Amino acid sequence: MSSDDRLRIAETFASLQGEGGLSGVPSFFIRTTGCNLRCEWCDTPYTSWEPEGEWQRVDELVEAVPSGMRHVVVTGGEPMLWSSLPALTAALRARGCHVTIETAGTIYQDLTCDLMSVSPKLSNSDPGPARSASVREDHRTSRIDRDVLRRLIDGFFCQLKFVVAEPSDLGEIEAVLAELPAVAPATVMLMPLGTTREELAARGPWLAALCRERGFRFSPRLHIELWGDRRGT
Ligand code: SF4
Repeated sequence: MSSDDRLRIAETFASLQGEGGLSGVPSFFIRTTGCNLRCEWCDTPYTSWEPEGEWQRVDELVEAVPSGMRHVVVTGGEPMLWSSLPALTAALRARGCHVTIETAGTIYQDLTCDLMSVSPKLSNSDPGPARSASVREDHRTSRIDRDVLRRLIDGFFCQLKFVVAEPSDLGEIEAVLAELPAVAPATVMLMPLGTTREELAARGPWLAALCRERGFRFSPRLHIELWGDRRGT
């Protein structure tokens, strides 16, 4: 998107990491805006369907990290869209930060980070019948890129996070995993779809049972459970 040292940023905030293996860890979030996918249930539509945000330089973003805050999460949207992302993650690590990148895993960049948190999108993310055929087709053909996923798994310390809507999604997850380099089951995390406590409570028990049965890790959505679907959390 850009070849200079700026990124378009939807928001920055300090909170607790809500998902994945670092759930509960105090973290500073840098949320880029813009995404190449269009998931129907996107919980940050202000970074995808209707992207908004201001341009910020890498040095401004690094300076915005509160002193004493070690963990920084660069999320989106799709942060891998930004050509200035490698400069940002390198500068954050030079400052001593632990850097997580949260990506859907459809774009590769040569960069440095401590954790690549990859969330491949399943067919349950289809933009929905109210959207145009071309939007749905673009999403369908680009939501999984096996070559990019292989490069990310081979090149980074990764966790794989899948958003699960129905028990039948498990078959799709296992089909995707079968085409990728072997990963430890404990680095594969299943997360219930939901932006309300009620949705998470409805899906949590059967998803937890499936994780126990298949050896996958259950990921909460701690920020939703604590604060609901609110920006800046
Ligand atoms: S990949 Fe993430 S940011 Fe992009 S549309 Fe899907 S849920 Fe939203």
